[in-house]
Amino acid sequence: MTHRSQVITGNWKMYKTQTEATYFVRSLMPRVESISTQVCLAVPFTMICGLAEEAKESRLVIGAQNMNDVSEGAFTGEIAAKMLIEAGAQFVLLGHSERRCLFQENNDFINRKVKRAVKEGLRPVLCIGESKEERQADRTEEVIRSQLTECLIGLMPDQLKNLIVAYEPVWAIGAGEAATPEMAQKAHYFCRQILGELLTIELANQIVIQYGGSVNASNAKELMNQPDIDGLLIGGASLSLESFSQIVDDSESILNLKVESI
Ligand code: PEP
Repeated sequence: MTHRSQVITGNWKMYKTQTEATYFVRSLMPRVESISTQVCLAVPFTMICGLAEEAKESRLVIGAQNMNDVSEGAFTGEIAAKMLIEAGAQFVLLGHSERRCLFQENNDFINRKVKRAVKEGLRPVLCIGESKEERQADRTEEVIRSQLTECLIGLMPDQLKNLIVAYEPVWAIGAGEAATPEMAQKAHYFCRQILGELLTIELANQIVIQYGGSVNASNAKELMNQPDIDGLLIGGASLSLESFSQIVDDSESILNLKVESI
């Protein structure tokens, strides 16, 4: 039996200049060379090409933060999966709560994006999570169920072998206060159960489920120590080389413990 792979992803949102980004990537690359944790950066579109070129001989993976659902067309300001792939992106975040809340993206649109990413060969990172009101109304599981079901409808298990799910409670994103490890574990376990119903239990047991929402160098280890937390999606703390590297190191030490305990 092998343990699920573990993926730590930085989401840079709309931050950093190309110069800052290049310095960050050059400094990070040697630190991720000999570890088992997969380390990824979701960077602004204009940086994908340059950073993917910088990282091409390394284990660092560069990806995008969004894309459109159609292959090409008259959609001013949008970007297509094949353009991202050509630029060197290997994955794409889909359905991030900032896209859902600020740009009115719904599950149906996100479902079409997942289908497009799969069709073009870009690894989808599907972001889901409940709002504060939904948690307070005890609707967390209902929201997780409907987001996973509606965003994955029409996709077959063999199309989703590479899927990553990022559970990111909206109330924890950028809030300075993460979910407790117990809360996150409960939600991740539930996500895996739903994935088992929608796909197959075998595949659900292989899918990487990341936690996101105010992860930092002080709480990453405890979160990663949970059995169903296979990685982290990190916003603010991924902008600092020091905190991101610390989180990567902590995650690697937990992965080693998880592997030893099998
Ligand atoms: C995110 O943007 O996906 C995120 C988790 O942000 P933060 O880590 O800043 O809460």
